[in-house]
This record gives sequence, C-alpha cells and structure tokens, in this order.
Amino acid sequence: MNSMAASYEKSLLKSAVEQLSVGEGTGLVLLKVIYSNGHLNSSFTESFCEVELEPDTLFYFLSIFRRGALIIKNLYDSLAENVEQSSGEEQAVQKLLSFLDNFGAHGRHLASRKSRSEIEWTLQLCKHLFQELGSDEFIVDELSRDLGKVGSLEYRVCPCCQERLIGGVTNNTYIGHRKVWNGRLDVVLLGPDGNAVMPINVESSLEIKYGRQSTVGKAQTIAQSVVFSYFIKKVHPNLRNFLIPTITITKDEVLFTFYDPVEDMLIQSESMNLFDAASDMPEQLRIDTVVAVWLVLNYRLFGSGVCLDMIETGYKANFLAGKTEALNIYNNDLEFGVTIQSESLQSFACTNEGVYKRTVKGDK
Ligand SMILES: [Zn+2]
Repeated sequence: MNSMAASYEKSLLKSAVEQLSVGEGTGLVLLKVIYSNGHLNSSFTESFCEVELEPDTLFYFLSIFRRGALIIKNLYDSLAENVEQSSGEEQAVQKLLSFLDNFGAHGRHLASRKSRSEIEWTLQLCKHLFQELGSDEFIVDELSRDLGKVGSLEYRVCPCCQERLIGGVTNNTYIGHRKVWNGRLDVVLLGPDGNAVMPINVESSLEIKYGRQSTVGKAQTIAQSVVFSYFIKKVHPNLRNFLIPTITITKDEVLFTFYDPVEDMLIQSESMNLFDAASDMPEQLRIDTVVAVWLVLNYRLFGSGVCLDMIETGYKANFLAGKTEALNIYNNDLEFGVTIQSESLQSFACTNEGVYKRTVKGDK
C-alpha cells in the first residue's frame, strides 16, 4: 500500500526537498578533529574538541538520506520511481503526513516557548516534535535542572497544551566510560524495542561560529555524538551503516551532528531555523527543518550512510588517530546508564507509581 498525500501536503514536501537539495542553508560539512581530550577522563561539559572544516565542499542534506528522499519524492511526484515501502517506513510516512495535516497547530504549540525553562521546553519538544515525527518513547535525564518546576516527576502533562505526556520517563542517561568522554545526555529517544536510538542535546544557544558559511556546535555536541555512535556500533553491530545522528536544539535552531565510527567521518549540518522568519505568522514552522528532523529521527529506515562523494574527499575525522588504547575503550567498553524494556516503560508511564525492573550500569 502506498501512502497518499493531499495536495497541500504535496506542496509542503516538494518545497522541503527543494530546500534540502540546494546545499546553502541546509548543507552538510565534513569536520576533522585537530585536537581533543577524548582520550582523557572528561565529562561532556568539560570536553574539548578543536575541529577544522573541509574547505571545499558543502554536501546536500539529502545525500545521506537517499532512501528517505526517494520515498518523499514518491509521495508528491507521480513521475518518481515507485518504491515498495516496508511496514516501518509506511508507519513513519503516516506520522509525517499526519504532522503535516496539523502543521499549523504543531507550530503554535512549539511557538509558546520563550518563557519556558529548559526542562519545560524539552518536554514540549518531546511531545510535539520528537514523538510526532519519530520515537514514541523517551528518557529525560533524571538530574535535569528545574525538574521541580514541571510538577510531578513523571511528567504527566505537557507544559504548553496541558495534554497528558505518555511514553516518557526520567532515568539515568549516563553514557561513556570513566577513562574517556562520559556524562549525561539531556534526552535519549528509544526505538520500538525499547533500546536507545538517539541523543537529544537541548541548549540555550549554538555558540561557536566557525568557518565561512557554517555554524559548528560546541565540543559537547561532538563528544556526545562520537560516544553515542560508538555505543550504537557496539550494541547493534549489524546495522547497514553506522552514521549515527545527534540532535542539538535550542528554542530557535536545530543542528544535526553525525559520526560514523567505522568510516571515521564526522559530519555537521548548518544550523537550521525551527520557525519561518519569512512568514507572516511567527509560529509557522519551517517545512525543510521539519522534514530534516523526520529523516534524522528515522535514520535507521531512511539513512544511507556516508555518501561516495564524501569518502572521495579523503577527509577523515582523525578522531584519536594513533591512540589505540583509548580507541579500544570506545570500541568495546562504553556503557549506557539504563536498559529499559518497552513494556515496563509503558506501565511505568501510565501507572505513575511502583517499581519497574531495570538494569543500571555505568561507572560513577
Ligand atoms: Zn503541549
């Protein structure tokens, strides 16, 4: 069965694909690590990472989401190659189409953000962006600041719409190893199997401007991205590719960082605006950013990994090149703070009480 898009949705999708195919504004750059303290015991907040940009090339955002691009084009372009979708892809497409059905409403929910504390904004994002476009379940760092302000620990209600929050828990989001980079992630999105899929880093600003046309996030973003990618490679050694994304998001912008520990390639997007400054309505979301978030959240379905043009640049991240001992730790010994089964997570989120079984790992 093929999903059908209405004409309004088709025009939104077409414009998103056009924007994500122009490079400028939505492009991807390759990064090289000149020096980092990734071989030393360092928390994410104390991480140091000096990077250099590959000077010549800006890659299309869609160049690492070829499967996703094909499926979107298939939704709006009757001349596009017809693709048979897997059931997972079908579900993801339905989520995107229903998001577009309520495009204005989602924008209005997310637009009420300026006065929110970081944790309130985090919960709004989980409900109105990440759950709507990707993961149903998520873990919020139990040590987040301002936890008290959102009321009950179990986050029953979204701060903006007062609707019930389902599928989220607070827990231990520690990842890493005591001899290398390690620390807490703000949010971890979970897959249908209850396993960690992607970290979300909620920031007040994207600070470092770097290079000609691109914004590069803080060292912390790169550290979290590298650690999480190595962790995913360890626990899911059979993935088709290991280009794993990390989302860094403020109240206005989104930055995507990707690290592939097999190819040793570090890729970062330009910072993309969440809201459309050119629109008459300040709460209008940018469709290209929304589709980019959707592709990234569903990277296991739609991601095609590092593309050939990137490999042909010969520009590697050089992460800890020659530091074999530290790299062995990244490859073999990283730990994640929790292991949650999907069912127990559901019951915990719904009953709001009681003990649920979990395995807690991680060095303190
Ligand atoms: Zn809400």
